[in-house]
Amino acid sequence: MWIDTHCHLDAAEFDADRDAVRAAARQLGVTRCVIPAVHRPHWRDVAQLARQHGDAYALGIHPLYVPQAQDTDLQALDLALSECRNDPRLVAVGEIGLDFFVPQLCSPDMRERQWFFYTAQLKLAQKHGLPVILHVRRSADLLLKGLRQCPVASGIAHAFNGSSQQAQAFVDRGFALGFGGTLTYERSLQLRRLACDLPLSAIVLETDAPDMPPHWLYQTAGQRAQGAAQGRNSPAELPRIARVLADLRGLTLSDLAAACRANACRVLPKLAEQPEPVA
Ligand SMILES: [Zn+2]
Repeated sequence: MWIDTHCHLDAAEFDADRDAVRAAARQLGVTRCVIPAVHRPHWRDVAQLARQHGDAYALGIHPLYVPQAQDTDLQALDLALSECRNDPRLVAVGEIGLDFFVPQLCSPDMRERQWFFYTAQLKLAQKHGLPVILHVRRSADLLLKGLRQCPVASGIAHAFNGSSQQAQAFVDRGFALGFGGTLTYERSLQLRRLACDLPLSAIVLETDAPDMPPHWLYQTAGQRAQGAAQGRNSPAELPRIARVLADLRGLTLSDLAAACRANACRVLPKLAEQPEPVA
């Protein structure tokens, strides 16, 4: 019923209970997760997890991992994408993008290095005929510039939190916008307005688990100072996050599920070709 279009099931936070986490989400109707890789050492893991759980995956180098990435990782990515060409579970190049929020990534050198990895990976997506899954943090305009220089078929602007003009520019390039836990905060006024105003065809749902906890899992700085751990997000939260969006837009849950599923399959076409998920 639900597709979590962005879930880091390979993250260390799930090492102790990964299978149980995935099973709990399936119980709640999350039939498929898209697991984007963050760097080369995880490429094998995400492919393996996708096979094991009837899910899908993407291969790429995340902007937060650019400082430790080597130029040769790009040749390795090219090769890995070739080797996985016939794997129906490989649905995109990702997670790639630009992050101008994290201070260490904002020096002139690092900005240039991020741009190098982003544009090189766009070229690989183009070469291999794959969509991209984009990490967008204070970087929408430059990401769009990269897409103008090196157009790809489609993709997802994940955890989108930009303006409606930027949203429209992504939509015009065949992208959907990913919405998740941030929508559940009443103070997310601009994001909520955007999620209501956009055509439904532009929206996909995601958790970004274990990150971006919805408000019901969030521990404030004060609670954390007293020893509470930040709540771990999981793909099982997707239906409850979806309920928030369904209420905001005045939709039934099943109509929202059907629309978001169709949207995910449109922007990540190989999702539609996959073998049925394991029972
Ligand atoms: Zn992510």
